Amino acid sequence: MFCPLCGSSAKTVFTIKQAPIADCSECSHRFYKATHCANTVTQIFDDNYFTGGGAGYSDYASEKEMLIERGRMYAKKLAGITHPGRILDVGAACGFLLKGFVDAGWNGIGIEPNRSMAAMARSEVGLNVLPGTLENAQFEERFDLISMIQVVGHLFDPAMAFRRAHDLLNDEGLLLIETWDRTSISARIFGKRWHEYSPPSVVQWFSAKGLSDFLSHIGFERLAGGRPAKWISGGHAASLLKYKLGNKRIFDLIPEDMMIPYPAEDLFWAVYRKRS
Ligand SMILES: [Zn+2]
Repeated sequence: MFCPLCGSSAKTVFTIKQAPIADCSECSHRFYKATHCANTVTQIFDDNYFTGGGAGYSDYASEKEMLIERGRMYAKKLAGITHPGRILDVGAACGFLLKGFVDAGWNGIGIEPNRSMAAMARSEVGLNVLPGTLENAQFEERFDLISMIQVVGHLFDPAMAFRRAHDLLNDEGLLLIETWDRTSISARIFGKRWHEYSPPSVVQWFSAKGLSDFLSHIGFERLAGGRPAKWISGGHAASLLKYKLGNKRIFDLIPEDMMIPYPAEDLFWAVYRKRS
């Protein structure tokens, strides 16, 4: 078995629902050796993934405002690095994140393996999201920014996808990634019960260093990065606070539908520039 990033040898460290999870001997990448191809990607991210709960989303559309806000938040982070230009959002779903970038002055398109989601982006959000995967789609243009927000864990061939992103960027174009950190404290404490170990929808688990090392190897330089905030609803926050601190009535004053940020210990983001 070989690492899908660097090609070094790898060995199984544990199994989840009979799926062998392996560690690279060289680059610290962890992965499930997905045997599926692009067609299977469409099946994994079927309509049930976005509405069925479990490893996917309980109701993706209800996270609309939060995702738009996340797009705006990243656009703001990038404002100190570049001017808005042409963006390709990978794994765009129904285009909410992309809308956040568009609100901040970017223009561009998305790509999404789920056809219903891509259609919804066009009909309800008014954005052009093409059905397909980054690895297989044909583009007539180059981009100033490629965003992969909570996407790279799903890539069946991450090395190929990152190389493709490099090809599709203009010189000095940016690659923005947000993903889960397999070296985080939560991942270490929970071990194989960490919530992100859910093959076959999630098949790659990166460390910030391993990802940067690989991207540097194929022609990117890291410009900035950190830990994004996760957003939870007031109702969810109130129940967490009651659980931790006791059933105090003051927690009932938190509006149910208010979205509250809290720092995510097991997520990281980073932006890389294509070296010309
Ligand atoms: Zn490796």
